[in-house]
Amino acid sequence: MIALIDESRCIDCGACAEACPRTVFDVDVRGRPTIARQADCQTCFLCELYCPADALYVAPDSEAPEAVELEAARPQMGAFRRDHGWGEWADRVPNEHWRMGEIFERARALAATIQTKT
Ligand code: SF4
Ligand code: SF4
Repeated sequence: MIALIDESRCIDCGACAEACPRTVFDVDVRGRPTIARQADCQTCFLCELYCPADALYVAPDSEAPEAVELEAARPQMGAFRRDHGWGEWADRVPNEHWRMGEIFERARALAATIQTKT
């Protein structure tokens, strides 16, 4: 579950709020997000992936919020993005995860077939 935003790193781009499928963030006029609906977080890590400044930390527990100290979280911030070969890591970290694309495509085709039959 989303745990914190590092104010000192945030560049007010609003990308986390745009990426979040659960509208967890409110964004002020400068583009600065706050965690407004933490309980709605589904621990999908999309905000971490899209944050260009590594200014977010999502704790792995999806059931309940964790009290996380900023200093303790800092070494982890950006690790999820890096380990998925995202952004500037794309040419250095193999990204096997995105091979799921083929599987999703097959699932979509199968679903379309089933819908045609019904
Ligand atoms: S982990 Fe997912 S649901 Fe939670 S705040 Fe980030 S983008 Fe939103
Ligand atoms: S994506 Fe990162 S840098 Fe951009 S507003 Fe959100 S926390 Fe700040």
